[in-house]
Amino acid sequence: MLTPAAIADGRGAFVLDEIEVDSPQAGEVLVEMRAAGICHTDHASLSWKRPLVMGHEGAGVVREVGEGVSHVAPGDAVLLNWAIPCGDCFQCRRQAEVLCEHSKPAHVMEPSLGHAHRDGTRWRGQPVDRSFNLGTLSGLALVRAAAVTPLGAGIPFASAAIVGCGVMTGFGSAVNVAKIQPGDSVVVIGCGGVGLNVIQGARLAGAGKIIAVDRRESSLATARRFGATDTVVAAAEDRELAAVSEQVRKLTAGRGADFAFEATSVPHLAFTPLRMIRDGGMALQVSGINDPVTVSMPWFMWNKTYVTPLYGGCVPGRDFPRIFNHYRRGELQLDELVTREYPLAKLSEAIDDMMEGRNAKGVIVF
Ligand SMILES: [Zn+2]
Ligand SMILES: [Zn+2]
Repeated sequence: MLTPAAIADGRGAFVLDEIEVDSPQAGEVLVEMRAAGICHTDHASLSWKRPLVMGHEGAGVVREVGEGVSHVAPGDAVLLNWAIPCGDCFQCRRQAEVLCEHSKPAHVMEPSLGHAHRDGTRWRGQPVDRSFNLGTLSGLALVRAAAVTPLGAGIPFASAAIVGCGVMTGFGSAVNVAKIQPGDSVVVIGCGGVGLNVIQGARLAGAGKIIAVDRRESSLATARRFGATDTVVAAAEDRELAAVSEQVRKLTAGRGADFAFEATSVPHLAFTPLRMIRDGGMALQVSGINDPVTVSMPWFMWNKTYVTPLYGGCVPGRDFPRIFNHYRRGELQLDELVTREYPLAKLSEAIDDMMEGRNAKGVIVF
């Protein structure tokens, strides 16, 4: 079958072209894409040194299933997910599925791991890789059955499409990794797509105080709508957030918060959550910073923990149903996160808007 898709050229650009997708073999599912979220990783994927069908967040409708697939059927609405634990390696056996040694979800630049049927997607006559083994920026995606989770009724595709990335990362870092308890105090630095979901997770975990920090008043107003109880504006000249830390201390009995999250992607802010937590508290860096940065060691004093969680500690079978149940009960906002929808033909504009920070989340709809 021919279908339109966005293909990264590996050298910083992409083309919109047709790709050829086969019918599913055993253990595979063919999904008709309805919506695909875009994030900074998609921009990075333009330069992964090989052609690749773009997109790693998405939702759609099952068109065909291969032999042995029973958890979904043609016509089902599904969420696509790129982190697929094997269930049997060292990390999976110790309940750290997100660190699965077999599927290595974080090693996205390696050729498709563990997927035997790589010829099932072709571009210009040659087999082509799919971003994170999904390739959601395409009319059709041929994926492993385990990558597909049933959606159930009542969730718009655009809202579902963003769950398999920023929502999972923010919500999961609060609930699965920090394991926030009722009454805890929490600081969230940066109120974009991931930060807002940390705030939602903290609210659902029963945090007593959720202090949102951002440079923009408008972002702090949004943060309040997602559950922030207090807000602190970061001044441009407060480069290492010393003044913000002072304010946080005043709001937390002079002690510092139990947890502080960095969700800005700004390298020199990577360690600033350490300044805002109490002795023995936990700082989490959830924005994917991997630049070299320096840190003042006394910030770690005393007995503080610093964690860079991967994908919010995602266990797909446990976390996606939980997130969708929260949504159905009106406890977790998803629709409000999608600030703009674009057709695939406007992918360039969507990527520009994202790089300029114009959207909480932009979604391509098919
Ligand atoms: Zn993403
Ligand atoms: Zn494993």
